[in-house]
Amino acid sequence: MIGVKRLAGAALAALLLTGAAHAQPSLSPEARTAARFDAVVKDRAQLRLFLRTMPKGGDLHNHLAGTAYAEDFLAWAGEGGLCVTTDPLPAIVAGPCDAPGKAPAQGLGKTNPPLYSRAINSLSMRSYNPGADGALPSGHDQFFSTFARFGPAGDGKLSAMLAVARDYAAGDAVGYVETSVNPSAMSDLVNLARDTPWDGDMAKALAALEPAIPAMTAKARQEFDAAEAEADRRQGCHAQKPRTGPCAVVLGYQAFAVRVLPPSVVFAQLTAAFALAQADPRFVGVNIVAPEDDPTALADYALHMRMLRFLKTRYPDVKLSLHAGELTLGLVTPRELRFHIREAVEVAGAGRIGHGVDIAYETDASSLLARMARDKIAVEINLTSNDVILGVKGADHPLHLYRQAGVPFVLSTDDEGVSRIDLTHEYLRAVTEQGLTYADLKAAARASLEYAFLPGPSLWVSPRAPVAACAKAGAACDRFLAGSRKATAQWRLEREFEAFEAAPH
Ligand SMILES: [Zn+2]
Repeated sequence: MIGVKRLAGAALAALLLTGAAHAQPSLSPEARTAARFDAVVKDRAQLRLFLRTMPKGGDLHNHLAGTAYAEDFLAWAGEGGLCVTTDPLPAIVAGPCDAPGKAPAQGLGKTNPPLYSRAINSLSMRSYNPGADGALPSGHDQFFSTFARFGPAGDGKLSAMLAVARDYAAGDAVGYVETSVNPSAMSDLVNLARDTPWDGDMAKALAALEPAIPAMTAKARQEFDAAEAEADRRQGCHAQKPRTGPCAVVLGYQAFAVRVLPPSVVFAQLTAAFALAQADPRFVGVNIVAPEDDPTALADYALHMRMLRFLKTRYPDVKLSLHAGELTLGLVTPRELRFHIREAVEVAGAGRIGHGVDIAYETDASSLLARMARDKIAVEINLTSNDVILGVKGADHPLHLYRQAGVPFVLSTDDEGVSRIDLTHEYLRAVTEQGLTYADLKAAARASLEYAFLPGPSLWVSPRAPVAACAKAGAACDRFLAGSRKATAQWRLEREFEAFEAAPH
């Protein structure tokens, strides 16, 4: 009898334990969600499903022109009466289209499906096969050369591009996109400087541009007012209260300089970018773009950092996110790998670093990493872009180095249309190639708003503690949020995580 009782007791205990394990009553929604992530981590299709709906906060490294897909550009080319060349690498060009070697973009998918398909490949990295079918022999060259081939279709299409960026973000559970885009009015300053030889006198160069700045910022404001209103109209946002889907995606803009241009032009672009960030709160930061390994970009790198430093002393509140270290061994000489990230941080005063791929080649990389960790200079990680352009991926990618050093990081797309990816894809790569956990991804999503250049104080005083006003929802928190676009976005992300983690899995 005793033995039977003991057995029954043990069986009952086992049953209770099993039941407890099944219902997991003690697990928080976050822990249950992490367990679900762990259960699907080896199944990429299931993982994709999980990650697509996971709230991701912001996409902080995003180029507006590189966000639209080739099909978008071909549609806009059709609307604008532009043509597609029939070259081995088809490109969008101006009309008339009835000349030899050209076809109308309008309806091309139906009138000439093979050319339409080749055009998509030529305007992006789709089906990229090095050197085959007219494609360029390096991913780097193919990638950067697409911009000139689809560029004409983007002229005058700002509102359509904004709408596309919001549409893709909403489909990807991204609430904020910080995208690089220049107003066309920037050319007013560039035209003033274009014919002026660069003599290194930055104060003089700035003084020559300053009279034109108020008119330039006013024109830019009008251009973006109109484009945003048109994007709202296209996406039916005016009727929405509250806004949902694409209409709820917040956009922040980074005006930028193109680092392959002559110094006087780069300085004029940077001046315009700083002035815009000062004058219009939608322009949240300044960037510098184009291939960092270009001969002019290399020759002028240190000069560009000094220009940024000079302008930052004149516009001290303007934030900088700088492409730096988008390089790797063999692409350039070893000496070029030693200092780009450090100068972006120490000379230019970057608040964030774009790419930072060559960090392990920097002189005294350990102290640089420690400085970035100490000063909370986040690195924007673009896994697919780095793979396609630089051939750096998997264990060769330095994400783990940044993480070990405690440098904050965010996951971003760079040019999702050119790479034909989305941010979910980058999260997926971060899991399958970099071994990130649910907790890591959630921290990255939160970091994408903490280190966003959205104005206003953060919701968080420490990683787990909100400001006192928002310890609980209520009037005090509402007042705090009303004074901070950043905290508003962070608050929304937390509500999205609550819903995501409470959903039945
Ligand atoms: Zn970029």
